[in-house]
Order: sequence, then C-alpha cells, then structure tokens
Amino acid sequence: MRSMVLVAVLVAVVSTGCGEESSPTLPSNGSPANTPPVFLSWEPPSDTLDVHVGESVTFSVEVSDPDGDPLSVQFLADGVEAAGDASWTLDIDTERARSVSVVVSDGEAVLSRQWTVRGSIAPPPAVRILDATPLPDFGELSVAWLPGVDALLRPLAVYEIRASPAPFDSDGDWDAAVTRQTVSAPAGPVRRMAATLKGLESGAWYVTVRGLDSRGRLGRMSGSVQVRIVDRRVAVTVMDAVTRLPLGGLRVTVAGVVGETDANGQYVLEGCAHEEFELLVDDGNADGIGGYFDYFGVHSFGHTIVQLIPDEPVASASYPDFSTMYRHLTTIRGIPEGGRTRRWELPLNVYVPAYTNGGLDYQATILAALEDLERVFRRDLFTLVDRPPSVGLRIVYDRSAYVDRYAFESFTADHYPERGRITFRAHYAAAHHASFLTVVRHELGHALGLVNHSPDLGHLMVGGTAPLAPHFTPDERRVLGTFLSLPRGADPLLFIQE
Ligand SMILES: [Zn+2]
Repeated sequence: MRSMVLVAVLVAVVSTGCGEESSPTLPSNGSPANTPPVFLSWEPPSDTLDVHVGESVTFSVEVSDPDGDPLSVQFLADGVEAAGDASWTLDIDTERARSVSVVVSDGEAVLSRQWTVRGSIAPPPAVRILDATPLPDFGELSVAWLPGVDALLRPLAVYEIRASPAPFDSDGDWDAAVTRQTVSAPAGPVRRMAATLKGLESGAWYVTVRGLDSRGRLGRMSGSVQVRIVDRRVAVTVMDAVTRLPLGGLRVTVAGVVGETDANGQYVLEGCAHEEFELLVDDGNADGIGGYFDYFGVHSFGHTIVQLIPDEPVASASYPDFSTMYRHLTTIRGIPEGGRTRRWELPLNVYVPAYTNGGLDYQATILAALEDLERVFRRDLFTLVDRPPSVGLRIVYDRSAYVDRYAFESFTADHYPERGRITFRAHYAAAHHASFLTVVRHELGHALGLVNHSPDLGHLMVGGTAPLAPHFTPDERRVLGTFLSLPRGADPLLFIQE
C-alpha cells in the first residue's frame, strides 16, 4: 500500500509539471490507479493581471485526462462559483484585487490554477477639440471641445487647456506650455465646453485640451489645433511734419471706420476687421487745423505715425502745388523705391580739402556755405572730416571737369546714400567768388536731397544753366526743410492733395 501511494504521487508530479496542484485519490478495492487530468494550456498565461476598470478579461483552460475520464471545469471568483465551462469572462468593475481560480476534476482527482486580477482606472480618452478662434480683443482665444467621459463613462470633472508656440507631440511639450487654463465641468450635462485663453502674443499658437477624471488623472492628448494671433489694434499718431507738433481734431478713417485724433494727435481703433486697410487722414472737418495735405496710405495693424506736410501755396509758376514740387525735386530716379525719402543720416560727413586758385580759397568758401546752410535750416547738417569718409560726402577739384556736379558714388543695400562726391571745376578765381558760392550752394542742395533740377529759372536748383538766384528761394527752402524733417524712409508719394 505504502509503495503504491508513492508511485501515484510520482506519476502525478511527472505528468502535471510545476505550478499545478494535484491530489490523486488512492485506488481502492484493487481497481487500477486513477491518473489525474492535466492542463494542456491556460489563458491568460500570466498569474497576475492588471486590467482597466470597465474592461473584461476572459479565462480559459484546455484540459485532458489520460484515463479518458469525463472532466468538470469550475471557475471561481473570490472563492465563489462563477461558471462551469472551459472559459469564463470577468468584467472588471472595481479596483479591488480579485482572485480567480479554476478547478478541474475527473471525479477523483482535482486540478486547479489561480490568477490574481487587479483593477485599474484607465486614463480618460482624448477630448475632441471643436474649434479654436481668436477673439476681437488682442491676445484672446476661444477654445471649444466636446465634453468627455472617463473610463467608467462618467463625465470628466476638469479640463485643462494649454497653448504653446510649438506643437504638442509629447508630455514634454505639454509640460512646457506657458499658457494654461483649467476649467471645471458644470454639474449638469452639457453638449459643448468652452474657455477663453488670454495673454497670447502675436504669432502662431498650438492649442490642446485634456480632461481629468475624478481622481485627477490626466487624459490622453488630443493632438493640437493651430491658431494665428494677430494684434488687430490700430493706433495712429498725427503730427506736423516740420514742427512735429501733434495735430488734434483731424478726421481719421481706418478701413472705413471714421474717428478723430485727440489733443495728443492720437486715434486708436481696437480690433480692426481687416489686416490690410486704407488709412486716410484729412483736416476737412477741423476748425483752425486746415492747411495740411491729406494723408492716404495702405497699412496693417500696429502704430502708424502720420506726418502731415503743411499745404501752403508755392510762389513758383512751374509747379501746381507744394506736393508736386516736393516730389519732383526729391525723388531719386533709377533706383528701386526711389520715390521714398532716402536721404543721408544727418549730420552728413563732409571732406573739404584745401585748394586755392587765382586768389580764391575754395575750402574757406565751401566751409562758409556749409555754416550758412546750418543757420538757414537751424540744425546740424554737416560734420567736417579730415579724409574722404567711408560714409559721407567728399569734395574734389578737377581741372579737366567741364561741369560742376554732384554724384552718388554708392548706395546701401536698401538704397540709402552711402558715398557721394561733389566735383568742382578747378578754374574759379577770386573774381568768380560770388558765382562759385552760388554753385557751391546748388551742389550742396543736391547732396542734401534736392536731387533733381527745377525748371523754374528763378530757383537755385535750376538745371542746364547757371543759377540766377544766389540762394534757395522760400519754396526751395520749404521743400528741403520738409525733406530734412521727415523721417528717413517716409514715403512722400503717400501725401495726397486735398
Ligand atoms: Zn545741378
């Protein structure tokens, strides 16, 4: 008897392998020994399972009995009988650890196997973003999304909205986002959630939304939508181009919206509807302000300083108005954008070498003319340098020259004067002092910005003949004074006549 038991146990161990329990029953009454059933396979293969709450897990076994005995298979959940088939499905509805076992019996021997199932809450699924739209107030953005549910199909408690200049591809991108907003879900059911992000700078932004469940677990990232934030504020400051005094009470029209400048010459339009718009400034409705050329230009959002040119009559019969004379004399031809005010940065470096001919001191005469011009225009126009400047004007005296002339030698890449040269004929003598001085002023007029000749024979800037006027006429002084007052790059073509 005793040796028989040992044999039976040994057979059971060999046939079932490790991890299984078997309890063969002793044979009785001389009948042949029972061989217990064996597992051929089982699912899931792992003993310990982590399953998200709301999901299910199916257990199954394949068993065989070497004796061909009929087998019963019984699954138990936490020791309670669950089902009597070769497979059984457990719905995970709690985070509590569950014990699942299966017991196989051939009527005598029992075989069993056990699993431990731990429930865990899955993170909320991704939220679907409906739209992200810039609001009229600069830097504000409206984001809308579909309300989400957690793994147990309960509405999400909280949503977090983030915006970043970079796309959201990883949790690192999420952590790096600077603009954040947290929104609690309302108590009742809603069909749509929305929030407003504020304080976004101009530029492209990526926006994403994630939900948090009641345990504060962050849902999956929903990808991001791209939005462009544009500062739609338009500010206009209007001033006198020559005196730089602010001009209040002027009518300002921005994209069809009419306003008026305040005492500081300012008009502000918040949230302009158009990115590019026409800006018109006119004095038509202002008492005591009249006397300026209207301004018209195409602009985009931001701050625009409009410098109005005083509209005074011109004495010269060669021009219909000041604006025409201004453009005619100052427009540089032959370079791109030559219509823009492209003048030297003042004061202008000037190199005046010493030279005397026939008792005429060229250098002293030219220096006197430079000082005279600074008095006339009441500003520092020139800086004397002792060698030809890398940026500036140099004077040369040339015996072989047949005319006195001013020439640009080079421009910067954006077409501002870089180097210029005035060539004087070297033949003037003491007797020609007055005419030489007139020529010096004429050429300096070119250098300062009156680049073209005037058709008016009474003008210092007349071309093709020796000037009769020894000095700039009041008209010419106003053109040059305005030219030197306007900022470099201001476009005189934008000044239109009323
Ligand atoms: Zn000339």
